[in-house]
Amino acid sequence: MASGILLTVPHELGTHRDSNAKNAASCLEAVFKRRLGVAIYMHVGDESRDICDLNRSACRERPFRQRIRNSLRALPRPALLVDVHSFPAPTDLVEIFFLSEQGHEPQAWVLALTRFLLAAGVRLAARHGGENDIIGEAIHNFGAYATLIEFNEGLTDTRLNEICQYIGDWLQQQFFRATTPARCSLM
Ligand SMILES: [Zn+2]
Repeated sequence: MASGILLTVPHELGTHRDSNAKNAASCLEAVFKRRLGVAIYMHVGDESRDICDLNRSACRERPFRQRIRNSLRALPRPALLVDVHSFPAPTDLVEIFFLSEQGHEPQAWVLALTRFLLAAGVRLAARHGGENDIIGEAIHNFGAYATLIEFNEGLTDTRLNEICQYIGDWLQQQFFRATTPARCSLM
């Protein structure tokens, strides 16, 4: 169980920006707000990827990364961080990718979530990522649950919303159950 959620969108600006990531993060944020009852922070990158790739350790001291750390410090451990990206719509059929931190296996909860999504019919793949420093820092320095998700830029808003709902379903059932207020048992 996590204390709260961070949604991060590092590649909002630049010639190789993630054109559907902010939209996907907003979709997740809306579902999480409606269903999870925990604190949610969203941080969108405000510097061009061409100048500084905010998902790299070399850019850890940029204001965007400092804001992420401030939110991580504001939450009791462990927090949950979802780093949101998008990839150009190709002809292949993968709707979302889960990327782990470089050199590390996905955390166990990510494997459970991907099994749930596959069973729900989401076409996904999980693979090792490159230097994904946002989730790396969250995991190693803040003891967080963290993953990177890439959304296909060809997803319709309807399908994107379905996938956000599935992710919310799983988090509500498996991750935030204990935060549901206890039922009154006086009767
Ligand atoms: Zn990206």
